[in-house]
Amino acid sequence: MSEAAIIDGKAFAARLRQTIAAEVAALKAEHGLTPGLAVVLVGEDPASQVYVRSKGEQTLEAGMHSETHRLPAETSQAELLALVERLNSDPAVHGVLVQFPVPDHISQAAVVAAISPDKDVDGLTVANAGRLASGLPALTPCTPTGCMMLLRDQLGELSGKRAVVIGRSNLMGKPMAQLLLAADCTVTIAHSRTKDLPAVVREADIVVAAVGRAQMVKADWVKPGAVVIDVGINRIPKDDGKTRLVGDVAFDEVKEVASAITPVPGGVGPMTIACLLANTVLAAKRLNGIGE
Ligand code: NAP
Repeated sequence: MSEAAIIDGKAFAARLRQTIAAEVAALKAEHGLTPGLAVVLVGEDPASQVYVRSKGEQTLEAGMHSETHRLPAETSQAELLALVERLNSDPAVHGVLVQFPVPDHISQAAVVAAISPDKDVDGLTVANAGRLASGLPALTPCTPTGCMMLLRDQLGELSGKRAVVIGRSNLMGKPMAQLLLAADCTVTIAHSRTKDLPAVVREADIVVAAVGRAQMVKADWVKPGAVVIDVGINRIPKDDGKTRLVGDVAFDEVKEVASAITPVPGGVGPMTIACLLANTVLAAKRLNGIGE
């Protein structure tokens, strides 16, 4: 069997951002509408600071309105919820995103519940999760949405495929499974209590690994010709004492078996912010009664 195609998420995301920028320009010209994204960061977590900066930069590059609210770590939950309320009713803002994790004294669930479902561009509210599960128009979480785009690009029609999603988080595994189901795949959700995980994964035409365990999925877990989407981001030590990023899939061996595979980095990761921009444009159109 020939080696797998390497799915270039970085290039796909760059093309998607161009398409979004063109749509934003058209919305401005035809409707006087500038989609706007507000990102809220509480505290000084270094990884979150990098993500928030990238989100702001890419929002501006797409021609959209961007605002970043940086709050000190000691901000109370009530103060944070009051800001979210303000953003919910600000007509210049169509997407509201609170960067997680928030400090321990703030309830993540309370923050998610405070975000207007119409501006919930992370797709995390119960309303959007329920809409997705019920087959209604929803704002869907960015990373699974990006995985679906890569899969459709690779496979075209997904109907009837056997898909195994490893991981069942609200952010990743569950919405991924719902999106695959909505695309008429036959879906299995695996997790830490799944018995004989390798045998379950071997049934799949599509494998999505969203676990957070470095290089867990091995070549002999994968059906020859399967498409493998690796969501995991894990840091492992190198011989020189530095670290490198790897996914949840043992890339070097699995690429010998799969028909296509996403690398880490450069696969799923770049799709997340591009899909955040796409969700913000979608929210702006829906809030202004503009057809999709
Ligand atoms: P999470 O909330 O920690 O969920 C991990 C899931 O993996 C859980 O459902 C857990 O099962 C399951 N799991 C743990 N050990 C397992 C095992 N040995 N066998 C089978 N399943 C196992 O993580 P997450 O937020 O979904 O993220 C998953 C990974 O994706 C992380 O590496 C994260 O960094 C990455 N990620 C990347 C992006 C991106 O590229 N932009 C976005 C989101 C997440 P239980 O439910 O039974 O505990």
